[in-house]
Amino acid sequence: MEFTGEPMGLNMTPERRQIRDAVKGLCDRFDDSYWSEKDTKHEFPHEFHAAMAQAGWLGLTMPEAYGGAGLGVTEAALMMQTVANSAGAISACSTFHINLFGPHPVVLYGTEEQKRRILPPLITGEHKVAFGVTEPDAGLDTTNITTRAVKDGNRYIVNGQKVWTTTAQEADKILLLTRTTPRDKVAKRTEGLTLFYTDLDRRYIEVRAIDKLGRNAVDSNMTFYRDLPVPEEDRIGAEGDGFRLLLDSLNPERILIAAECVGVGRRSLAKAAEYARDRVVFGRPIGKNQAIQHPLAQSWMALEAADLMVWKAASLYDGREPCGAQANAAKYLAADAAFDACDRAVRTHGGFGYAKEYHVERYLREIMLPRIAPVSREMIMCFIAERVLGLPKSY
Ligand SMILES: Cc1cc2nc3c(=O)[nH]c(=O)nc-3n(C[C@H](O)[C@H](O)[C@H](O)COP(=O)(O)OP(=O)(O)OC[C@H]3O[C@@H](n4cnc5c(N)ncnc54)[C@H](O)[C@@H]3O)c2cc1C
Repeated sequence: MEFTGEPMGLNMTPERRQIRDAVKGLCDRFDDSYWSEKDTKHEFPHEFHAAMAQAGWLGLTMPEAYGGAGLGVTEAALMMQTVANSAGAISACSTFHINLFGPHPVVLYGTEEQKRRILPPLITGEHKVAFGVTEPDAGLDTTNITTRAVKDGNRYIVNGQKVWTTTAQEADKILLLTRTTPRDKVAKRTEGLTLFYTDLDRRYIEVRAIDKLGRNAVDSNMTFYRDLPVPEEDRIGAEGDGFRLLLDSLNPERILIAAECVGVGRRSLAKAAEYARDRVVFGRPIGKNQAIQHPLAQSWMALEAADLMVWKAASLYDGREPCGAQANAAKYLAADAAFDACDRAVRTHGGFGYAKEYHVERYLREIMLPRIAPVSREMIMCFIAERVLGLPKSY
């Protein structure tokens, strides 16, 4: 059995096989040396992004009425797993990951005018959007954000600061969560937050890159908002309702990240197995030693088990059934399994694993991210403890 073959937990219809094969064909044009160079030079992979846009993949989950393909999270996860399994790993996914469920609040709650204005240029790749939620002093406690939007006639004026705003160097638009009513003036702390989709206008927004460990082809930034004027027509949904609007995209987001993790994990494992078969030390291939074999075999099992949870969560979401437990579990299991696979791939390569030439160090640097963001392992365990096991909320 070839271990990078068909997903065991997914019914591979002809349409899904077509998606997988076409995406793989496109991604294979961008090899390890392309991505290594982008990572080293901290350069956005414009060629890759343009190729994905041109082939129509950026609109996979957007409604057909606006130029998208109208497909579900299952197909999106299959696409992202295929992208992540290519040389671009998490970097490649992060160039357009936001397109899949980031604009979901616009799709579900936007006005007809907003959908017509916002969605088509995202699908063609003409517009890139960044996502501004996290703030330095709020962290995972999202309702504690302090970036303020104050109503001024038929516009809002925004002041504040965000952190980790991915692709803000490249983006022309920002999906921005703000506070319109201070937290101490609302009945529930999830109230009083307002969501905007607006221009990333550099006259009022300073974007400062964060120097970081990996995924360096895709930037992440501090963003400072100084008297940013936002027209009322850029508000998504009702004032004060922003937090609720974001909730719908949380589960698909976790499912996509989980699928991406499995893709990167499998790629690293394949490289490790190949190296273990070829590398001869003490007169025999290192892969003949059980101390090399067993961790890799264990990683295969862990990745496949996590993958089953990915497709389970995806089918529940697409079937409009509750999937919080499965989506969170998939993300947790896949991020851990992929991290272990990437770590083992580096160690299987010995000293050469530390050299950029073999690329496994790049995958390891990238795969550290999904255990931290967009939601940490600890928060997932809190969710399972409370929502599945009925234990009291701990924070
Ligand atoms: C490369 C990168 C890209 C990102 N891109 C974006 C983006 O585009 N847009 C955006 O808005 N955000 C983005 N993020 C932010 C990301 O979502 C946050 O880093 C993440 O939500 C964690 O917040 P924090 O880093 O402030 O951690 P903190 O909230 O400070 O938490 C620190 C640690 O403490 C733990 N912890 C906190 N509270 C508890 C508790 N009650 N119980 C147990 N453990 C706890 C957490 O699990 C975590 O391990 C990105 C982050 C990174 C690293």
